[in-house]
This record gives sequence, structure tokens and C-alpha cells, in this order.
Amino acid sequence: MRIIVQKFGGTSVASPEVRQLVVKKIQKAKEQDLQPVVVVSAMGRKGDSYATDTLIGLVRSANKHTAARELDQVMCCGEMISAAVMTATLQERGIEAVMLTGGQAGIITDANFNHARILKIDSAPILRLLKNGKTPVVCGFQGVTADGELTTLGRGGSDTTASALGGALNAEMIEIYTDVAGIMTADPRLVSNAKILDCISYGEVCQLAHQGAKVIHPRAVEIAMQKNIPLVVKSTFCDEPGTLITNVSKGDSGGTSVTDRIATGVTYLANIAQIKVSTHHTDASYKVFKTMAASNISVDLINVHPGQIMFTVAEELADKAAETLRALGYEVETLYDCAKVSVVGGGMREVPGVMASFVEALSLNDIQILQTVDSHTSISVLVKKSEMQKSVTALHEKFSLAAI
Ligand code: ADP
Ligand code: ASP
Ligand code: MG
Repeated sequence: MRIIVQKFGGTSVASPEVRQLVVKKIQKAKEQDLQPVVVVSAMGRKGDSYATDTLIGLVRSANKHTAARELDQVMCCGEMISAAVMTATLQERGIEAVMLTGGQAGIITDANFNHARILKIDSAPILRLLKNGKTPVVCGFQGVTADGELTTLGRGGSDTTASALGGALNAEMIEIYTDVAGIMTADPRLVSNAKILDCISYGEVCQLAHQGAKVIHPRAVEIAMQKNIPLVVKSTFCDEPGTLITNVSKGDSGGTSVTDRIATGVTYLANIAQIKVSTHHTDASYKVFKTMAASNISVDLINVHPGQIMFTVAEELADKAAETLRALGYEVETLYDCAKVSVVGGGMREVPGVMASFVEALSLNDIQILQTVDSHTSISVLVKKSEMQKSVTALHEKFSLAAI
């Protein structure tokens, strides 16, 4: 059996007209003798009636501190509505589709509500449907615990559902359909001349996703990478080939190796706060980080200097972080409204001058660098949020990404 997983994001299932485009993509896969397993997200984006953000808003308007368990029950409804509508649309067009919730599709998770991890997948229900010539339409973003509790997989988690099903079913390919024609050198909402990458490595796209590129969930990339299943990100709205994510570099067939590019993309994470802690004792640094861990606050962009520790946290956790540290007697300063901007490139390691180009691009644009951090395949800076777009554009230009 040749299985293909086709995942359609919120904008791809938002209206009757676009759902007809989805039908075409499914029909095309069938014409190629593939058996599609369809995964759908909730319909539309923030503001649309059945979108995840709308459902969260609805329940939070009753109680700002809605419990994680109840929030999951509500969030699951978005994908259920979408899958039911998509299934009905396919049936109306003569395709024998069957809707499945995450649980009905055999997706078992832990009980970490809002951020559940998939523990196992029983592929029998889907395989049974496929053997009978049916097309399963699975609700993305959700699973069920062994005790029958509904869970969700973290925002953007329908991509994770698609990859996890692809892995469990030994799919030939996982297609992620969205509103852009592939993974781009930057978010096109910020950089008008961003280019579509025809090929990218799992490692690079994972970094881009972790550093904020919302186009695909990093967990989805990790799962596909572990199983070595090709992932393609493409648009529902056109027939462009999209971006192929794989381990095979173009260099193997003579072109430029994708993993040799110094810079592949620029990305950003907004809504970050910088915390500066004054320290007087040498043992303070591990105590500060232990305190943050004990409070379940994850820290990033860490710099430890004699007398001062700097790190960043998600802005919504900044006050909790500062209060916790002050209660222990530390002097704390918080800088709100920051953003992390990163350049990712599989080939930047050991190339001299990359950091110099990075800093030059920002300095020439009068952008103040608040902090930096680098790894083998990325360089990141903290800047003021008001300078985020300028920074992304300047770096995109400096690393000639429009000409990639
Ligand atoms: P879906 O609902 O289909 O999952 P998302 O909104 O989660 O769609 O992801 C698609 C969006 O990701 C695009 O509209 C685009 O604005 C944004 N995006 C951010 N970074 C990138 C990038 N590097 N390449 C392409 N799109 C990006
Ligand atoms: N509907 C969910 C969200 O908005 C999952 C997804 O779209 O992938 O986060
Ligand atoms: Mg998404």
C-alpha cells in the first residue's frame, strides 16, 4: 500500500471555495495510485468563527484562568468541526471519506494538557479504512490519553499529527499544505522579496522552526527526520512544487549542497523580555537557573558575567520570573518588548566573518544589539521589538537571501 499523508492548515479549509481546492489535491494523489490520509486544522485564523484562537477567546471570556484540561476540550472542537465539514465535502464529491478524531485514529498521548506528547499510535483503525478503499480525514492537533482524556499537542500541532501518522503508517511522503508556496528565506509578511527554497535539510528547517518560523512545527520535522520520510511544504492555492525537506543534499547530484549554505533563512520570535540579575556570589548563577527551572520558566539567550547574569524569557512569564528572584533577594531589572532575530545556515560553522557581517548589517541600520548567542548553524540577537522588522530585512539583504 502506497500511503501519502496530506495535511491542510487553517486557511486551506476556511471556505467552501478553498475546500474544493483541497478536494482536487486529494483526487490528484488518488490518481497517482497513492492512498491519502488527510489531516485537517481548525478552519480559518484568529477572528474566524471556528478558529482555535476564537474558541480559546470564548472560554477565556468566561474565566481568564480556564484550566488546561477544559481548554483542551474546547480546542479539540475546532479540528472536529473542520474534519466533519471536510469529510462531508469529500463525500459530496464522490470520495468515500470517513472522519476520525485523534483518539479514533489511534493517537495516544501523555496527559500534559495543551502540550501533550504522542506516546504511541495504533495504526489499525486507519489501515482498516484504507484497505476498504476509504479516505480517512483525521482531526489534527489532538490525541487522547490512555484514560480517555482529550489532549492537544501544542499550537500549530496539526503538523505534528501529520508527521506522526506518516511515521506510524510508513507513508511515502508527508505533504503540508498551507497559504505560502513553501519554506521561504524569511516570513513574507515581513520581507516582501523573500524567496521560496526548493530544498532544505531537516536540520535547517528544524532550527528555523525553533527560532520562530511558524510555517511548520519543529516537532513535525523531528518526527519525519527520525523516520526519514520526505516532507513537502506547499500551497493549497497553486500548483508550485513547494519545498522538499530531506537529508539528501542537492550537492549529491552536482549542484550546491543545501547543507553548505552559509545562510538559508532569517527568522524572529517576538514578545520576549530580557532579565538582568545582579549577583554578588559565585554560586549565584546556578541558583538563579535552578529557581527558574523550579518555577517551570524556560530561559533562553543566556550570558553569565562576573556580577551579572542576563537571560530572556517569554514576555508573559517575565513578571513571575522577576518576582520569584526578588523574593530570594536578587536585584532584578526587566526589559520588556524585545525580539529575537536569527540567521540560520547549515554551512556557517567555521566560516570566518559571518558574525562580522551580521553585526555590520545591524550597526549600519542603527539597530541596538541587546544580546547575542550563536551555535554551529545559527546566530541570534536580541533587539527591541520596534526594530525587529528592520533587523530581519537588514539581515535578509546582507546575506543576499533574495538571490538564493
Ligand atoms: P497553517 O495554518 O497552514 O498551518 P501557519 O500560519 O501555521 O499556516 O503557517 C504559514 C505562515 O507561516 C505563512 O503565512 C507565513 O506568514 C508564516 N511564515 C513564517 N516564517 C516563514 C517562512 N520562513 N517561510 C514561509 N512562511 C513563513
Ligand atoms: N488549530 C491549531 C492551532 O491553531 C493547530 C494547527 O493549526 O496546527 O494551533
Ligand atoms: Mg501551522
